[in-house]
Amino acid sequence: MRRSAYYTEIPPHNKRRLHYIRRQATLEPHSRPEGLSDHVMQEYDPEAPRTATAAGPLIVPRPEHNISRANISEQALKVLYKLKQEGFAAHLVGGGVRDLLLGHEPKDFDVATDATPEQVRQVFRNCRLIGRRFRLAHVHFGREIIEVATFRAGGADDVDAERHVENGMILRDNVYGSIEEDALRRDFTINALYYNINDFSLIDYTGGLNDLRNGQLRLIGDPTRRYREDPVRMLRAVRFACKLGFAVEPDTERPLFELGHLLGDIAAARLFDELIKLFHAGYGLETFEKLRHYGLFGYLFPATETCLAQEDHAFPITFVSRGLRTTDERIQQGKPVAPFFLYAVLLWEPVRQRYEQLLTKDMVDADAMLQAADEVCARQQPLVSIPKRYSLPMREIWSLQPRLLQRDGKRPSRLIGHPRFRAAYDFLVLRAQAGEADPELADWWTRYQEADPTDRTSMSEGGVKRKRPRRRRKPAAASPVAG
Ligand code: ATP
Ligand code: MG
Repeated sequence: MRRSAYYTEIPPHNKRRLHYIRRQATLEPHSRPEGLSDHVMQEYDPEAPRTATAAGPLIVPRPEHNISRANISEQALKVLYKLKQEGFAAHLVGGGVRDLLLGHEPKDFDVATDATPEQVRQVFRNCRLIGRRFRLAHVHFGREIIEVATFRAGGADDVDAERHVENGMILRDNVYGSIEEDALRRDFTINALYYNINDFSLIDYTGGLNDLRNGQLRLIGDPTRRYREDPVRMLRAVRFACKLGFAVEPDTERPLFELGHLLGDIAAARLFDELIKLFHAGYGLETFEKLRHYGLFGYLFPATETCLAQEDHAFPITFVSRGLRTTDERIQQGKPVAPFFLYAVLLWEPVRQRYEQLLTKDMVDADAMLQAADEVCARQQPLVSIPKRYSLPMREIWSLQPRLLQRDGKRPSRLIGHPRFRAAYDFLVLRAQAGEADPELADWWTRYQEADPTDRTSMSEGGVKRKRPRRRRKPAAASPVAG
């Protein structure tokens, strides 16, 4: 491998592989940042001015905080050192700094600099410029990407072609600015802390260290205006509140109850990405509950929300909650999770209800399920667009549900070989646990999978005839799908 010039710049002790202690599970949610000395913590006055303009930034020198280069990714350090060497300002910012201070393992490392994206590209061979709304440089190191953002000025005024604002919402924002302006345009104070590679100090323009200490999530600036500029910040508020166990500061929290409708203005593809971040971070159940608490869930999944709100027996909500809890447990155990399963869970109740309606019109199982899925997806896609690679397997899980009722003859052995069988079976188990499907059916499939070939034959030839109470007037605890 050819060594790039800057690689040799890095002190040898930083070349160690990252070794984090996984403390996330045990960390008290509202514990103060571990990375700050008592001396520095005493300096924080909760009533102190929060903006740089009033008092200048709080600068915490290296000896008074514990962010160590040993805990920063090797690639992020390479980028920081190289930018510095080229005469640019270079800082670590965002979730990386926040998580290191909290003793969490950062998900990724973001770099902020005064170099423009074009200048960044000239510095790194392995660099691509991305984004229209925000122009960013991605520096690639194999699978790891370090995102490098140029200091950007904030504000929702339509200054020129580089910033485009409609109804207070920022659609394009490439007006570059100072580090201080960059801090003020970020979302939450705890996300606006800078680690300066020049002297290894921490820089706080917005009171973020104080909020980190108090376990508070606070938007920078006027919350309503900031949510209007970018309504995704409402989802980010929920995400960080759940992920960090932080309280949402009252002024930041209040508009969450009122501004949910703004989510309708967000591109459906961006919402899909944000929702995966929300539900696949290991706190899906809590996130779901908070989104419903603030009335945001209904703007994302209106058909599901209608079903949940109308529930006359507990299973819709129990089903979604169980599905999310199972996903959380899988993430905590380091097992893979699939977006198609998540969406199959989130949209199941409207699909199931429509399926039952169609069955009463004497449609056959398979057609009814296909049509129900078509209708629900057609209404959902304009809000949150589910890419085909996920929507196809999601629909397979649904269409296999009636087929799981067919336990006679050769059908079970054929079904078990279906590529989506396992996911469909897991889905059936969830339904049974939620009281919506017949637990005996789920048990049968559990035993069938564990049985040897002879036993399987006798199980499927044992005269288990499907029951199909198609014309049931009122859905009871066991639905027709699982009848
Ligand atoms: P995570 O741990 O999920 O990566 P993060 O805070 O690093 O959390 P990113 O989406 O990686 O989140 O964004 C990096 C930083 O960019 C944030 O910390 C924040 O300072 C800024 N940022 C991201 N999204 C927004 C937004 N919608 N509005 C304002 N600032 C934002
Ligand atoms: Mg990040």
